Amino acid sequence: MERKVFGLGDIVQMKKPHPCGANEMEIIRMGMDIRIKCTGCQHSVLVPRAKFEKNLKKVLVSAASKEDSTDL
Ligand SMILES: [Zn+2]
Repeated sequence: MERKVFGLGDIVQMKKPHPCGANEMEIIRMGMDIRIKCTGCQHSVLVPRAKFEKNLKKVLVSAASKEDSTDL
């Protein structure tokens, strides 16, 4: 089974678009719950991690992959 990988600062696409019409969310807080911010209306919501993973369609922009992840 494919495991979805996401991290802080990632831009993600959810299965259901936000009521404002935008379908891109930025992860602004990680933890037991995940806070995502709509890139359209800037509205932020807190969702439990399990629900977030269920509703996540795909990661559009991975914040981590923008940098070279060469460990020291
Ligand atoms: Zn919105």
